[in-house]
Amino acid sequence: MKILAITNQKGGVGKTTTCVNLAASLVSLGKQVLLIDLDPQGNASTGSGIDKAHLKNSIYHVLIGEKSLKDVVVTSEKGGFDIAPSNRELAGAEVELVNELARETRLKVAIAKLSGVYDYVLLDCPPALNLVTVNALTAASAVMIPMQCEYYALEGLSDLVNTIKKVRAHLNPTLEIEGLLRTLFDNRNMLAQQVSAQLISHFGEKVYKTVIPRNIRLAEAPSYGVPVLSYDKGSKGALAYLELAQEIMHKERKNG
Ligand code: ATP
Ligand code: MG
Repeated sequence: MKILAITNQKGGVGKTTTCVNLAASLVSLGKQVLLIDLDPQGNASTGSGIDKAHLKNSIYHVLIGEKSLKDVVVTSEKGGFDIAPSNRELAGAEVELVNELARETRLKVAIAKLSGVYDYVLLDCPPALNLVTVNALTAASAVMIPMQCEYYALEGLSDLVNTIKKVRAHLNPTLEIEGLLRTLFDNRNMLAQQVSAQLISHFGEKVYKTVIPRNIRLAEAPSYGVPVLSYDKGSKGALAYLELAQEIMHKERKNG
């Protein structure tokens, strides 16, 4: 079971879009996938066709210790993956957990109980380096960092890399950065090309070969509560996420 935290404290870089569409793509390639929505915005839930306003149970109840994951998981009808949904209630967890014991390992312990059920668990993190994100980094086997190739992209990256180092030192010694994913990419943009080249010179093999283009289909699909594969399977966005799924599966085979 590979547990991938999809994280970047910068907002709007394509974390959720990547989670939903990578999940659906892995399913289409025969994998069992669980997506865990860790953002009170609940965008991954909505984008997977789940009505977040009327949830009886959500990831919030798992983190505060009231429910186990299997009690809150539902299935995304069009995506074919399971999802632990989230909504605004999750914002309260941050405060409620402050004085609790083992507050950083809540998610890790919850996921451990699922062993054997899923091939991939994808964690959609909020745009913050908060306790929920630390829970994700503590539970994860690896981190995927989606980023837009723009001027300020590299600046935020060092804060994230430092957080990852701290989590590695204190909570999760085997955590690794699996890859940096270039998202919302516009090939005609010179700056994007320059930043992309910089990324490759800094991070080398850690930059996924797959590039996710800016594609209107990817932005439209969530309003129907479906991944782009169900909405327009021939679109550039759908093909890019299929390619990413293949790259990730290949990487895993290579690394044993
Ligand atoms: P947040 O930090 O708020 O959680 P996020 O990092 O999860 O944001 P998304 O919600 O995936 O980012 O994407 C931000 C916006 O950009 C959304 O409206 C989404 O539909 C759109 N978007 C994401 N990726 C693409 C893409 N490759 N092409 C076009 N639009 C995209
Ligand atoms: Mg998001």
